[in-house]
Amino acid sequence: MLPTVVGGIAIIAYYTDRSVRADAADTTTAAVSPQPDIAIMGLDESTIASYKKVVLGESKRLPGHNDSICAICLSEYSSNETVRCIPECEHCFHADCIDEWLRLNSACPVCRNLPSQAHVAS
Ligand SMILES: [Zn+2]
Ligand SMILES: [Zn+2]
Repeated sequence: MLPTVVGGIAIIAYYTDRSVRADAADTTTAAVSPQPDIAIMGLDESTIASYKKVVLGESKRLPGHNDSICAICLSEYSSNETVRCIPECEHCFHADCIDEWLRLNSACPVCRNLPSQAHVAS
């Protein structure tokens, strides 16, 4: 019988050198965080007002997509109601509903399209 001696000693030393610190913060570039072009906030009144407004007739036919329900208040359109349409995507909503919405959000509530940003820039 030959005794097999398996002796293994592994010494593994990890040296983590974390001395990477840049204290040289002399370059004081007062960078006011750059605002993205896309305004996430609402639109201004003049932009909202520039969107096409239509008074529904007896047919209640919308100028854009032929929806019968306002996606904001979820009620059906009825004749003589005023709807407003977002020009980019032609989605229509009650004027009152979309006006309120656009003051808080600049995106279409249905398709999340951002209406013309060009108007937002003052
Ligand atoms: Zn509505
Ligand atoms: Zn839309």
